[in-house]
Amino acid sequence: VGLRTRRELFIRLGIIDDPDIPTLHKRTIRSWSALAQKRMKEGGRFRSAFWGGMFPAGDVKHCGRAAMYGLLNLPETEPDHPKLMATSQAGKDVENQIIGIWREAGLSIAGENEDQLRLQDPRYWYSAALDDVLDLRPEVNFVVPVDVKSKKDDVINEMKVGLIEADPRHRAQVIGYIHVCRLKHNEIWGDTGLEPSRGGFVYYVSRDNPANAFAFWVPYVEDEVADALKLLSDWKEKFTSGELPERPKDWRWTEQPCKWCDFKKRCKADVKEGVTSLADSVAVAQAKEIRPEYDVQKIHARVLQRWAA
Ligand code: SF4
Repeated sequence: VGLRTRRELFIRLGIIDDPDIPTLHKRTIRSWSALAQKRMKEGGRFRSAFWGGMFPAGDVKHCGRAAMYGLLNLPETEPDHPKLMATSQAGKDVENQIIGIWREAGLSIAGENEDQLRLQDPRYWYSAALDDVLDLRPEVNFVVPVDVKSKKDDVINEMKVGLIEADPRHRAQVIGYIHVCRLKHNEIWGDTGLEPSRGGFVYYVSRDNPANAFAFWVPYVEDEVADALKLLSDWKEKFTSGELPERPKDWRWTEQPCKWCDFKKRCKADVKEGVTSLADSVAVAQAKEIRPEYDVQKIHARVLQRWAA
């Protein structure tokens, strides 16, 4: 068919608008951006726990500074990009499809609530919202927690042939799930005949074709859990005493976990200023500029109060 004129080409490429038709795509992108701004202003839910994805298990760098910044409930400094918002929403939709399938098949033992099953270990301020917990008898006779992660179709295919490994942070998250499932076993599943969890899955699902997936098995290893709990205990003590842990000197800003860290700019500024206390953090001063009502003492007290109760 071919584009006859340069003007047609520019219209097709989105460089100029066609004056004869409405600009639907531009308006859609503007709507995404407006939504991102709105969410940024509103802020998310108050965080008073080390959440599921932070469980510091396994052979991966877990950052205590990021854990502290998280509990400070700092306001966002930049709105999310439309691509991030859209893929994250698509991921949630796919996760819901998969969980719906498990429920329909009678595999789910996470309860009938619409919300995810929330389990906590208050001793370590740990709180996890589990995607699902399954009964996979007769293959195994124990509780199997699962975290569903969505990926591009190519990534799933490469995982299947061993070109890409599961993300160690996802593995760590499932270890945290296994830990809380074991902790709450008698209370929740004591009369099911199932034994306490001895493993779980990261279930990687294709966003393009949710029937394409790769199930990555995570076994329960007692020592790994014990080490992670020690680290959580250390973070809890640091937050209680208002201390900002030192950044390990051998970490690089361009590598994980710093590379994509939400707090990178603020963390860098704190390193530069030699800040060692949460209240003195550059992030706290910046939070007050963005939200004048931000009060670090009140936030600190609110976190402690939750766990005192
Ligand atoms: S930038 Fe790196 S050291 Fe700083 S909070 Fe983030 S992960 Fe931790």
